[in-house]
Amino acid sequence: MRILKPAECWTPKLRVRSFGNNNMAALCKGARRFKRIIFCHSLVRGFSGKYEYDIVVIGGGSGGLACAKEAAQYGKKVAVLDYVDPSPKGTKWGLGGTCVNVGCIPKKLMHQSALLGGALKDAAKYGWNVPHQPSHCWATMSLAVQNYVKSLNWGHRVQLQDRKVKYFNLKGQLTDGHTVIGTNKSGKETVLTTQDIVIATGSRPKYPVHVPGAVEHGISSDDIFWMKESPGKTLVVGASYVGLECAGFLTGIGLDVTVLVRSLALRGFDQQMAGLVTEHMDSHGTKFLWRRVPRKVEKLPSGSLQVTWVETSSDREEQDTFDTVLWAVGRAPVTRALNLDAAGVKLDEDTGKIIVSANEETSVPHVFAMGDVAKVPTTVFTPLEYSCVGLSEAEARRLYREGGIEVYHAFYKPLEFAVAQRDSSQCYIKAVCLRDGDQRILGLHFTGPNAGEVMQGFALGVRCGATYSHLMNTVGIHPTCAEELTKLHISKRSGLDATVTGC
Ligand code: NAP
Repeated sequence: MRILKPAECWTPKLRVRSFGNNNMAALCKGARRFKRIIFCHSLVRGFSGKYEYDIVVIGGGSGGLACAKEAAQYGKKVAVLDYVDPSPKGTKWGLGGTCVNVGCIPKKLMHQSALLGGALKDAAKYGWNVPHQPSHCWATMSLAVQNYVKSLNWGHRVQLQDRKVKYFNLKGQLTDGHTVIGTNKSGKETVLTTQDIVIATGSRPKYPVHVPGAVEHGISSDDIFWMKESPGKTLVVGASYVGLECAGFLTGIGLDVTVLVRSLALRGFDQQMAGLVTEHMDSHGTKFLWRRVPRKVEKLPSGSLQVTWVETSSDREEQDTFDTVLWAVGRAPVTRALNLDAAGVKLDEDTGKIIVSANEETSVPHVFAMGDVAKVPTTVFTPLEYSCVGLSEAEARRLYREGGIEVYHAFYKPLEFAVAQRDSSQCYIKAVCLRDGDQRILGLHFTGPNAGEVMQGFALGVRCGATYSHLMNTVGIHPTCAEELTKLHISKRSGLDATVTGC
């Protein structure tokens, strides 16, 4: 048995060096595998038709919707229940789950807004006559992003309708292995009976509830993308995906941003690459306070938030005032409210995650929980994007020992940085390979422009068992950043300078 969270976009379990570009991809793959499992399962069992639905999916995020649509295409009678409990600040949104509403999509669009600010600076060097101090309008950006998200919400509704999947804006709860009760916002209940149940309820941001004022005065990634006014001077607490991505685009649009880091940045990622990402952010204005933990948040009469934190090695208290405090301290699965006990579905006591077998079946045979544990590629959309697939260098050393691996690397200069005179000192590529035999590639890591686009193609190769010689025999497309991967020839072990020179 292994333990999984229900399907979601932002989940450590879906990842394993990847929240794939991201978990959407992982989920779609998960959904395809799930499709095979669930339909074989149903066919073998011989559906009796004694229930109203073949499948009821609880959760209308990427995983739940993919599953429902696939099932409907196989002729199954399917219903999807989706309901958003507002965040503590009262933010709510439509169909599509975290990815569409409060995750990947609005994040990538706000990241793009920040990148455009950088491009404006480059533009002058490329001959454009741009105003000396271009300014950014949060309200315009957020309205555009929110309108786009709403169009996706609508698109999902239409797709369900086209495939004859019944959609209910209800909060689902199990009463037994074949019955789901849906409750609407007025408390009215609807009972649905079904042969199979799929739980795909995802996760929601956590708050450090032990920190006075955290919930009352702070916001999370559930709120930031839906704010109508600029968050202003912002303290981001947490230095993983969510924290760094938000800090990155907030800095990029010109805000004063500080990141409070408890220990490491991007824990679980290759730490050399994580260092390059934070170094780049630091050099572009994001302030990092390392080894600090929050102690309290107080609202001053002026409306500002006074945050007190502790420097962990000295236990010294420090404080500053901010307009916004953004908690990015992890996410927790949404399973407690599902009444899973009633159906006999077992949860991991500590994490609240659902325990599933290898084919996503829970401890109850006809109840499934979606997720994925494949090593899929991922991108961290920080100002300098970082994308990777496979193992970190440290993981590879641990698994194959020091003498078992060869690491090829290069510091390169993206062509588009040259005329703009951008600093490229954090643009870096690393291929972690087995040392013996055909030098199979264990991990690829890339920081630079369009990192996700670059890594997507190489991920196919890694999945197909690509070796270092395959990489060397691949003809690079010139002039691109991706071609630098096909030219990696300096091993770390050689100690030679890995700076790429020439065209
Ligand atoms: P996370 O990966 O769980 O990291 C939480 C961060 O908060 C860590 O830096 C952690 O520090 C810190 N932290 C936890 N508790 C804290 C406390 N009480 N005080 C101070 N700091 C604290 O969480 P996340 O960044 O929110 O990401 C959640 C999941 O979303 C990820 O696992 C990922 O699956 C997904 N995600 C994916 C993408 C993408 O695909 N591009 C983007 C965003 C998020 P320590 O390291 O010291 O524990």
